[in-house]
Amino acid sequence: MQESTTAGELIAQLKPRKNQLDEHGLLRYGKMLIDGEWVGAASGETFESVYPGTGEVIANVASGGKEDVDRAVAAARRAFEEGEYKKMNGADRGKLLWKIADLMEANIEELAELETIDNGKPLVESLRVDLPQSIACFRYYAGWAGKTTGETIEPHARVNAFAYTLREPIGVCGQIIPWNFPIQMATWKIAPAIACGNTVVIKPAEQTPLSILRLGELMLEAGMPKGVVNIVTGLGETAGAALVDHPGVDKIAFTGSVEVGKLIMRNAAGTLKKVTLELGGKSPNIVFADSNLELAAKVALAGIFFNQGQMCTAGSRILIEASARDQFMEVLAGRAAKMTVGDPLDPKTRMGSLVSEEQMNRVLGYIDKGKEEGARLVAGGNRVGGSGYFVTPTVFDGVNNDMAIAREEIFGPVASVITFNDADEALRIANDSAYGLASAVWTNDLKKALTFARGIKAGTVWINTYNMTDNALPFGGYKDSGFGRELGAAALETYTQTKTVYVDLN
Ligand code: NAP
Ligand code: MG
Repeated sequence: MQESTTAGELIAQLKPRKNQLDEHGLLRYGKMLIDGEWVGAASGETFESVYPGTGEVIANVASGGKEDVDRAVAAARRAFEEGEYKKMNGADRGKLLWKIADLMEANIEELAELETIDNGKPLVESLRVDLPQSIACFRYYAGWAGKTTGETIEPHARVNAFAYTLREPIGVCGQIIPWNFPIQMATWKIAPAIACGNTVVIKPAEQTPLSILRLGELMLEAGMPKGVVNIVTGLGETAGAALVDHPGVDKIAFTGSVEVGKLIMRNAAGTLKKVTLELGGKSPNIVFADSNLELAAKVALAGIFFNQGQMCTAGSRILIEASARDQFMEVLAGRAAKMTVGDPLDPKTRMGSLVSEEQMNRVLGYIDKGKEEGARLVAGGNRVGGSGYFVTPTVFDGVNNDMAIAREEIFGPVASVITFNDADEALRIANDSAYGLASAVWTNDLKKALTFARGIKAGTVWINTYNMTDNALPFGGYKDSGFGRELGAAALETYTQTKTVYVDLN
């Protein structure tokens, strides 16, 4: 692997082009957004954000705590109940969302750079995938603003009466997001919340606050009234927990680990908040012998190695029919072995760094476990480079579904290949998981494909493709992968509540 651009070089590159530095020569993202103002943490504390490509510090970020969350929630409440935002109609909110998208587009390179230097993902992906999809998400929900409608209903046991329903916003929404797709996860949560007239307090992951802070500046520039979106940077155990406990927060939307998801659900019970959880997966990608095997293998690689495998939808269990195994593995393992990791900022790089040293060690730990459990390592399996958190694309063959590498979410570039003999066995293995986020089936037999689509217990089934999320399509989990749906019209359900109005005509 060639040497990564250092954080110092990187910052130097940014300097002539953008006014992005603070007095210490680091990126100027030390403040959070509360009530339309950029402020430090009440405690004065900060934490470091590093560039995963080298492990160097690139910014000192405000470490928000309970007091900051209190202020942010009070601001969000004021914005929700009174003032400018309350006077905005659906068309106005739609215009605001569209304007935010326009400003993101105008600043796409800067946002993509921030995303890459905070997360370690290839710049090309930030620029061509994460940012365009986030921009499109704001535009998708711009179209929905003010278009949620209620119903007129005839009472079942009365005459001379009718009822109608109002779809109203929920109020102050607490949003807690992970580090794998920072700006996209922020967008998936902020855009529908505003489309429905809610206000927001969002806490980014501690590893990746930068792009969201820049988005906050663009939202103000777009004319977003103060207090509508507040960004509290900080740690999960302090800022995140304070948001979950806060009696002034009406809803928590969370994406992250099952462990923290369970904790949030328990803690939110004290104030009976509405909760939606998106909690990752161990998704089966099932390949039948009658499919286009070469295509299935190529797409399976993207399905597990995109974003360095740090995807809740990662196709981390690849199920291959025994009769096609050798042919499929030749392409899968052969191509995986040729994939290289590289400097995230190099436009030629297709696989960058994992997000943190902690995550790298976690992934390497699973690779050791896979070997110990007797799976056959056929590609990758090691760290590359002395600085940065690079792990080679790793494929284990001969995996048994009882092994830890088949049961637990690794959240890294590790594929577990399991062989099956017939459709019944494939479905049984696919569903033998605590998770149920996504899945795919590859076959040219329509009946088999549609039967699998019904049989698989997962929130999404892809047929002859992988990872096709879309702003219009509901996204979320079955089983331990959580509940509630994001994206599409489905998200509007989770950001509104229904009021029944009964009209007596007697
Ligand atoms: P995590 O701890 O679940 O973090 C997700 C978010 O929750 C972060 O903003 C985190 O803050 C916050 N948080 C943590 N503890 C909290 C608490 N007690 N109350 C409120 N908020 C809290 O995930 P992680 O530690 O970053 O990653 C661990 C594993 O989770 C990964 O290896 C992967 O398996 C899984 N994961 C899944 C997804 C997904 O998309 N479903 C995303 C990320 C991770 P901090 O940033 O300060 O921790
Ligand atoms: Mg954590």
